[in-house]
Amino acid sequence: MKLSALGRIALATSVTVLTVGVLPDSAQAAAPSVKRKILPVLVEFSDASFQFPDKVKASTPDTYFGSKKDSAASFLSEVSRGRYTVVPAVTGQFLGPITLDLSAAGCPHGQINTMTRAELAKRGLVAGEDYDSLSMVFPAQKTNCPWAGLATQPGPTTWINLYGTASGIDVVGHELGHNLGFRHQGRFLCTGGDLTACRSEGSSYKSIMGGGGYRSGFTAPEMIHAGWLSDSTTKVTKSGTYTLRPLHGTGSGTRALDIALGKDRLVLEYRHAAGSFDATIEGVHAYRVPAGTYSGASLIDTTTANKTAANDAPANVDAVKKLTDRANRVSVAVVSSGNGTAKIKVALNGDSLAAVGAPKASPSATPTASVSPTPGASASPTAGQVAAGDTGPAPDGSATADLAATTTGTSRTGLLGAAAGAVALVLAGLVTLFLTRRRGRGKHA
Ligand SMILES: [Zn+2]
Repeated sequence: MKLSALGRIALATSVTVLTVGVLPDSAQAAAPSVKRKILPVLVEFSDASFQFPDKVKASTPDTYFGSKKDSAASFLSEVSRGRYTVVPAVTGQFLGPITLDLSAAGCPHGQINTMTRAELAKRGLVAGEDYDSLSMVFPAQKTNCPWAGLATQPGPTTWINLYGTASGIDVVGHELGHNLGFRHQGRFLCTGGDLTACRSEGSSYKSIMGGGGYRSGFTAPEMIHAGWLSDSTTKVTKSGTYTLRPLHGTGSGTRALDIALGKDRLVLEYRHAAGSFDATIEGVHAYRVPAGTYSGASLIDTTTANKTAANDAPANVDAVKKLTDRANRVSVAVVSSGNGTAKIKVALNGDSLAAVGAPKASPSATPTASVSPTPGASASPTAGQVAAGDTGPAPDGSATADLAATTTGTSRTGLLGAAAGAVALVLAGLVTLFLTRRRGRGKHA
């Protein structure tokens, strides 16, 4: 039986990431269009096989490369406006099942990776030439892995601990987001809009990296990190009124405002239903970028609405109206928002919002700092504001630092795994993902 999307989500235990290094976000100008060859490989163990291998084989091309909106290829192409595309590395779109001489016990993800790559090499497939990205899909029944997905962050590798017969975009898209360098996206509660009085709590629900599911796409800071907004971000350097068009969808115009906030940055976006995205997200939303690390931004929520991806709170209930940071002498006020456009006053250098002049045309976009999703860099993570669940850098790149377990609300609950750390709560559809992570190197969920 092919599972429904909900069934697939319910079976997913969690999502986790193996961090191999964090790129400095401010290193590079606009990223060119990127096309990556992904190689999904179905992997079985000496003591565990897929229960329905034919169904797994049938679902894999759909999950990664299918023409429907919820394939990884469709999702990444749409959200990046074609700047990031994934294509099959091999004729037939995937390989396997291959059987490793390895027991499933103990979730041996390192050996799964090493042995699978060795098997591919035997077949004459060269990493970096024949394939850019490897996604290993294996049966979950005996692994006891405390996650549904694992990924290098950034990097070229994902592991899918498959329950049922298909993993679905909310797992695969999330892991590929980690491959792009995106961390989990948390939330700062700054009730009343005072940016000097915030606390870290929960997830943003505005990104597939923050419990929002694929229909939220990614947020402006993540897209700046990836280089996808290089021609549609305005770096605000003087007080004024600025116009935003919706973050997602088609059309030209400014899609993000990027404002200095001391060493940090404040990024503003306008969310509005477009294409596959944002049917349930509306209005201006703000993010704090810690010391230039756009991939680690957190939502600024000035409300007590606690809007999630799953509750029925109005689409704009946690939209930003006014922000003030007296320490950095920055104020922001939303003048108007709706029907596909937003006007925002920004007052810098202690200027008063009331003194900011009449609306003017949106200044021309300025390319912003961004970084290409090249795997393998090893720069240290940047300190600064940390997202919910962060506990500081992990000691190395090998140990499990992320763990998670899922509850469907009725069955599995609690935390699995051994890493210490704070707990972030992520909702993906109806599934609550409890996860902890460490920041930077090591794994993170
Ligand atoms: Zn994750």
